[in-house]
Amino acid sequence: MSIKLDQVVKVFGTQRVLDDVSLTIAEGEFFVVLGPSGCGKSTLLRLISGLEPLDGGRILINGREVAASGLHLAPEQRGVGVVFQSYALWPHMTVAGNVAFPLETAGRSRSEVTRRTEECLATVELTRFADRKPADLSGGQRQRVALARCLAQGASTILMDEPLANLDPHLRGAMEEELSAFHKASAATTLFITHDQREAMALADRIAILWDGRLLQADAPEVIYRRPRNRHVAGFIGQGSIVTVRVTAAEAGTAHVRLGKAGQDVACVADTQPGTAALLLRPEDIEACGDEGAQLCGRVERSVYRGGFHEADVAVEGLDAPLMVRLAGRPAAGERIGLRLRSGWLLPA
Ligand code: ADP
Ligand code: MG
Repeated sequence: MSIKLDQVVKVFGTQRVLDDVSLTIAEGEFFVVLGPSGCGKSTLLRLISGLEPLDGGRILINGREVAASGLHLAPEQRGVGVVFQSYALWPHMTVAGNVAFPLETAGRSRSEVTRRTEECLATVELTRFADRKPADLSGGQRQRVALARCLAQGASTILMDEPLANLDPHLRGAMEEELSAFHKASAATTLFITHDQREAMALADRIAILWDGRLLQADAPEVIYRRPRNRHVAGFIGQGSIVTVRVTAAEAGTAHVRLGKAGQDVACVADTQPGTAALLLRPEDIEACGDEGAQLCGRVERSVYRGGFHEADVAVEGLDAPLMVRLAGRPAAGERIGLRLRSGWLLPA
């Protein structure tokens, strides 16, 4: 099962909540849509699942048009399972009852209902809890019941809207692993929505960045992190600094940039022309060193202990923004340090 969105538009009142969104999710792919609150993530999911009609473009599931101008298939005709952030379970039913419910309403035989329910509970490792009520489970366990229920429907396409947002941090990590394992086992095409970049990195085959209703970039996590297409993506994903530099020479794939007053030339990955450009430096691109061997020198403006390292803003003369540098020891305020650059990424103009 694949999902394809072709120039999808959704308007609420005067607001274009989704503006010309096109993307294709391959069969079996774990695709994460990442973006800040209010950017249109839930709306996107509601359009795909059929809970909301669209105002332009079209949506295809497994090659079949399910939404387009004048066409709107009902959710149950689309064959997708949905897990929402507030995983509504029936409080009066047992865990097994909740999982069996969609099978029973679909009119399956009693033996099939029992067999599928047991299988799905085993997949999410909740067999021991089959007879409990949702109220007697932890948040993570309830989430797994919602997943099992989604599995029981036999959906080969699963949409998840921030399903881990209500969980404690330590449970989230465990649930991320379970979701990954679950995805491998079920091979279901999965669309997962989150505002948490760490979660997106941990789970995704590909991440799409949604920003103010527009899709900015869809790529593998490593590409999104190392080669963001613009400032929004660079700033939203990971950490680092963006400074203005002068590109002195550019060949295929490599550019030489001059940064700081010292005028050091540094080779960067890029596809760009000589001129002024924005250089992204992740903390791991910058190495603190002694005066000899330093390409740049700067002064520590501020530092915070992050556990295992100190994160410092280092002001370098001639740069329009401080560089974020990771240091092993606590620097003194105003301390002078030498820096060497390993690499960098020039944002496309
Ligand atoms: P996200 O899930 O990324 O936080 P949503 O898709 O829920 O964002 O909302 C995107 C925008 O659309 C927000 O500005 C929200 O206020 C607006 N919106 C969502 N649903 C409706 C609705 N039913 N009527 C009017 N505006 C809506
Ligand atoms: Mg939402």
